[in-house]
Amino acid sequence: MEVIFTGLRKSGHCDLEAVEMAARNASHRLGAKVLERLLSAPAALELTVACDCGHQARFHQMRAKHLLTVLGPITIERPYYVCAHCQAGRSPRDRELDVEAVACSPGVRRMMAVVGSEASFEQSRQQLELLAGIEVPAKAVERQAEAIGADIDAREQVAIQQAKQLELPEVCAPEVPLLYIEMDGTGVPVVRAETEGRAGKLEGRPAHTREVKLGCVFTQTTAGAEGRPVRDEDSTSYVGAIESAELFGLRLYTEAWRRGWSRAQKKVVLGDGAAWIWNLAGQHFPGAIQIVDLYHARQHLWELFARLFPGDDKASKRWLARCLDRLDQGKIEALVKIIGTLQPASEELAKSVGNEAEYFERNAERMRYPAFRTQGLFVGSGVIEAGCKTIIGHRLKQSGMFWTVHGANAIIALRCCRLSRRFEDYWADRSSAA
Ligand SMILES: [Zn+2]
Repeated sequence: MEVIFTGLRKSGHCDLEAVEMAARNASHRLGAKVLERLLSAPAALELTVACDCGHQARFHQMRAKHLLTVLGPITIERPYYVCAHCQAGRSPRDRELDVEAVACSPGVRRMMAVVGSEASFEQSRQQLELLAGIEVPAKAVERQAEAIGADIDAREQVAIQQAKQLELPEVCAPEVPLLYIEMDGTGVPVVRAETEGRAGKLEGRPAHTREVKLGCVFTQTTAGAEGRPVRDEDSTSYVGAIESAELFGLRLYTEAWRRGWSRAQKKVVLGDGAAWIWNLAGQHFPGAIQIVDLYHARQHLWELFARLFPGDDKASKRWLARCLDRLDQGKIEALVKIIGTLQPASEELAKSVGNEAEYFERNAERMRYPAFRTQGLFVGSGVIEAGCKTIIGHRLKQSGMFWTVHGANAIIALRCCRLSRRFEDYWADRSSAA
């Protein structure tokens, strides 16, 4: 404190920032001392405690533990017990304080998880130092954020197992008139070991990314001007992971159930044309109205057009306009007919044309856009596309980032939890369990 006051008096000039930072450091140090005393205060000492092996462990000695807290580093003394039967040593106090096998207090770990879910671990390290006066290596932020993300996912797995065995608890959420599910895939750059033996997008070259499957659930209770659909504010929740479609299907089903899927009056599944999406929709969400994102369907026509008519004369533009019009009108059979009358110049083009005709044929019932609009439904999967950008892109696809599947999945679980507004509940839950 002395230093601060002399700093203030010097030459009548006051560098407020230097002073306030010094004052914060001083009060942290003081607080750390108080915390240390509080935590080391001798309670009535138990001579024996139960060991996990079923026998009793005996008091061995008082032992020091170094902890990083929001007030800085502290050292606490706590009793240490050793079991004569299985030789295991333990300090029950660590479990009580929720610091078992970790060197950071719960308060610090929570900060690390929050900043680590938002920014690169190096940026997180800098923010912790600037904003909270906590000095830790970037690696520590990474370890803690990933440990918490992995814990969130482990809890999710418990619910998913219940869903698998049809043992999910009844949902008490209010009945919703209209529930949407959207899903999409997006690539995340991974370290080399995670792509070994996998084919890349370019033939003969290994893949550098792995696909994250992301799903969201949201509700719609009102329509805006001209009957346009409006998503309920703060109603979107997300789940995602790098995993097989089968596992992801159960994950998304569990989330939909939690959101009242079984009690929704009307249900909609929206996605692009990817086969896995409609396989999952059929398997886990029967009875839902299936809609192919209109903008993806248009994209198919634009791409076909570009391949077929490299020069853009009036006649070919008219062809495209007619196709787009049929699509908008949901007249997919007519659209397929137009595509079918084409006489492609090469075998390769003929193949593309065939594929596109097949794509529209297969998805015809998912493209009755006027009927969907009449019901006031969304026909675009913009919510999940924005989700891919905010949840995955902004955090996991920054330049120079390469992930392990485990690390990526932990951070995805953490971000989904936070962006679904569930992190505070999760944290309260786990502290009370500890
Ligand atoms: Zn034992």
